[in-house]
Amino acid sequence: MRLIVYPSFEKRFIGYKNHSHIFLVYGKVYDDFQVVHLIDLISTPNSQLIGYLKVGTSQEEELYRTAKELDYPYLYFITESRSLEGLSINLFKKDETILNIEYEIEKLDLSRLFVRIDQKETPLNALRNKSVAIIGLGSGGSLLALYLAKSGVKNFIFIDDDQLETHNIIRHLCDISQIGRYKTLAVKDYILARIPDVTIQTIERKFLLDTKEDFDYFLTLLGSIDLIAAVSGEHDVNYAINDFIHSNQLPIPVVFAGTFEGVKGGLMFKVDPRNSDFCYHCIYARPENYGSIRTKAIPTTEELERKISYDRTMQEQLAQPGLGLDVDNLTILLAKFCLDILLTNIPHGLYQFPHNFYMWFNRTILKPNGEVKFDGMELYYYEDLDKDISCPYHGFEIKQTTEVDKTE
Ligand SMILES: [Zn+2]
Repeated sequence: MRLIVYPSFEKRFIGYKNHSHIFLVYGKVYDDFQVVHLIDLISTPNSQLIGYLKVGTSQEEELYRTAKELDYPYLYFITESRSLEGLSINLFKKDETILNIEYEIEKLDLSRLFVRIDQKETPLNALRNKSVAIIGLGSGGSLLALYLAKSGVKNFIFIDDDQLETHNIIRHLCDISQIGRYKTLAVKDYILARIPDVTIQTIERKFLLDTKEDFDYFLTLLGSIDLIAAVSGEHDVNYAINDFIHSNQLPIPVVFAGTFEGVKGGLMFKVDPRNSDFCYHCIYARPENYGSIRTKAIPTTEELERKISYDRTMQEQLAQPGLGLDVDNLTILLAKFCLDILLTNIPHGLYQFPHNFYMWFNRTILKPNGEVKFDGMELYYYEDLDKDISCPYHGFEIKQTTEVDKTE
């Protein structure tokens, strides 16, 4: 038997070891008692009652008397030497009792989870000081959160009012044991089980700015965040995020990302007010402003609108078995994009994205005449994107420039 002793268990044991009592043992049992995790001597959310611990000598009749009172199978630990190394372990199953099981003990050292070094290539110390808000914890948002946490980002705020449903599971990070829970809380637990030292605040509400109270609430919450990842896939939420940043003149970069219909591909773009970038409105004019004239290569708002399916029907989702893989493909690029933005003005050796707007296709997209329109598995960028005259935040600048041009 391989005994994995958690720090919480050891700490409690040290506190208890001078008491001659019988204590409950909480943990997890795997593979018919080949591996046993000793988690604590009190009940915890991630453990179950797996047996009893007796400190001091134990009489044989006591051993069997206790046995009659317990549910099978369970372990009975006795430590006469009052140390974890001197355990005698008995396993009680319904039809058999195995006394004095041989075991090897391993103390779980969580500091070994992070054998990572700050270096010029990957400045982990800089990343660890960063805070990221992720708005939308669906298949893309959950994986993005995980990759950023694995990459060293330490502080997160998750915002989403959705709960995990059965049909989410095939694409989502979390499993069927999480159905019915808020996605924010389920993803938080998933990440903390792997990277225990990250800080995650969860907000179970939709990011909308219907009232002044909403505005003030989110301003307090997000006023000093380093990056907002807008990955809810909903236009109304994305407009609200864009309004939030620009009307408060917050110097906070935002990454918007979404997928095209059927996840044939997706797009991601950065709006960094510190660089006076074009914004979400400039790319997706509000419906009342559709039809603003463009001459650029990028699809117009209307064309993009038709291409991007933000609200896929259930039937469409069920009919797309490749969806999870295709979403993940885009999300990994998105995570790299986010790291580069977080490390703005900090020298690093990670991929540096020279442009603000990217599209990615999971398959080759053909024109009606059979010519290749977009090659699959290639990142497309648009360097000539500009602010839009119909944008409430940037239209004014364009009008001014046009007037200056006329004067000249
Ligand atoms: Zn704009």
